[in-house]
Amino acid sequence: CDPTINAVLKAITNACQALIANEVQLNELDTLAGDGDCGSTIKRGATDILDKCETWKALSIDKILLNIASSAEETMGGASGGLYSLFFTAAAGLAKDLNMATICDCLQAGVNAVSKYGGAEPGDRTMLDALTAAHSSLQNQIKKKSSPKEVAKVVSKACCDAAESTANMKARAGRASYVASNLLAKPDAGAVAVSIWIEAFAKTLAV
Ligand code: ADP
Ligand code: MG
Ligand code: MG
Repeated sequence: CDPTINAVLKAITNACQALIANEVQLNELDTLAGDGDCGSTIKRGATDILDKCETWKALSIDKILLNIASSAEETMGGASGGLYSLFFTAAAGLAKDLNMATICDCLQAGVNAVSKYGGAEPGDRTMLDALTAAHSSLQNQIKKKSSPKEVAKVVSKACCDAAESTANMKARAGRASYVASNLLAKPDAGAVAVSIWIEAFAKTLAV
């Protein structure tokens, strides 16, 4: 099996397992600001991807990302199902290899698609806050020519910090925008979910 594809599938497996392990925490965060299902919604998608990814070994990276988009679309539902489907479909369009510059372009395309169709921007207390932080940080690390291990560490930290910082943001998108700001003292569930899978992904790809 192609080592690049092996690495991608390992990263996907670790990311899905990390998301599933955090189902309860993500549901609790979504209970404060929404309807309490973000963790379960993501777990449905992650479980479907884990079930299927054994059969993706002969595929190219772009086809693998399109399969992830289909899993999201078909099994998740909710706001995050649709948005993840858009994210991975857009990212797939540029996913030709595993170079950092390519991953950075894929992230940018995914962010643009989520923002275009979801109508939110960074600062609106959504998954976009964590995604844009990961993208800018990766862009910076590429400019600095940091080592892969350093890139993984710095990007994960930037993404986690951005997810945490949504606790201080006014919600302007999703169900949370209908909830009083003083009830939104904890971070956005969707942003925390992004930080979980980005960290798992980065850690796996950096070794
Ligand atoms: P819901 O139950 O409201 O349908 P989920 O629980 O699946 O949605 O996902 C909620 C998460 O989706 C939020 O925490 C937020 O990060 C993200 N989200 C919701 N609406 C948007 C949007 N318009 N743009 C970007 N992200 C959004
Ligand atoms: Mg929800
Ligand atoms: Mg829901």
